[in-house]
Amino acid sequence: MGHGWEGAVLKLLRGKDFTLTVTGAEYVTEHYLRVHFTDGGLLAAAGTHPTMWVRVWFSRSGRPHQRAYTLVDPDPAAGTFSLEFALHPGAAGDWARSARPGDTIDATLQGTAFTAPDPLPAQLLVVGDTASLPAVNSLLDAFGPIPATVWLETRHASDERLAVRADPVRHDVRRVPRERAGARLVEEVGSALPGLVKDPSGVYVWIACDTVTTRALAARARSVLTAPRRQIHALGYWRP
Ligand SMILES: Cc1cc2nc3c(=O)[nH]c(=O)nc-3n(C[C@H](O)[C@H](O)[C@H](O)COP(=O)(O)OP(=O)(O)OC[C@H]3O[C@@H](n4cnc5c(N)ncnc54)[C@H](O)[C@@H]3O)c2cc1C
Repeated sequence: MGHGWEGAVLKLLRGKDFTLTVTGAEYVTEHYLRVHFTDGGLLAAAGTHPTMWVRVWFSRSGRPHQRAYTLVDPDPAAGTFSLEFALHPGAAGDWARSARPGDTIDATLQGTAFTAPDPLPAQLLVVGDTASLPAVNSLLDAFGPIPATVWLETRHASDERLAVRADPVRHDVRRVPRERAGARLVEEVGSALPGLVKDPSGVYVWIACDTVTTRALAARARSVLTAPRRQIHALGYWRP
């Protein structure tokens, strides 16, 4: 594949390339689009893990741009998965809106990893937004029995309809409208943390929002919980 310098760098880092084929697409809301794929052998080669993501190569003005997207419902036996696009202006969403069955797109598998907390935590604190919702859902699937508080930052009224794979008994989902570039979310999470955590040694914190909000949330979590770094996973999913 000819992916310019970005591709060359990933190749040196031993990225593996696959061609995905679109089999269908559906709007979950007017701002959120799910696209279904056959995987070009990706899952057979790599297996699956929670929050697993791929670098998808989108073209804009004739130039390749790689963007990270999270696998939704990967099925290694069938060789299929979906990607969910939180829509906003950008190369990825433009491609997804026009995707039709039979279209192909290249993806590189490099960088995704997940280390399950060991021992398993007694409590999960998860903070995400619509870009990280697929990863949040994969975490809830993987850690189903563990009580969790999930904050989901929303941008559009229709985001209220996006499904969080939560169990109403064990999982407390708090939707927070995006205000002041993420500051409202940081305040709400920050003020709730001290009262929520019973035993800091048994908590696992997972944060994935925009880069600025993620940094602020991770700093709050570290100061409030004084938890070891390995108990706090924070990764910015997009640049505001
Ligand atoms: C590990 C990982 C997994 C990810 N998984 C997913 C996923 O499953 N689904 C998903 O939708 N996103 C996911 N993302 C985020 C996605 O990669 C970024 O949003 C990316 O910037 C989208 O590229 P683009 O070409 O659409 O926009 P870009 O060209 O990167 O940006 C164009 C404009 O859109 C703004 N923008 C970018 N992303 C967002 C956003 N989410 N909300 C509002 N404005 C935005 C930028 O600030 C910029 O102004 C993931 C990111 C990471 C790091």
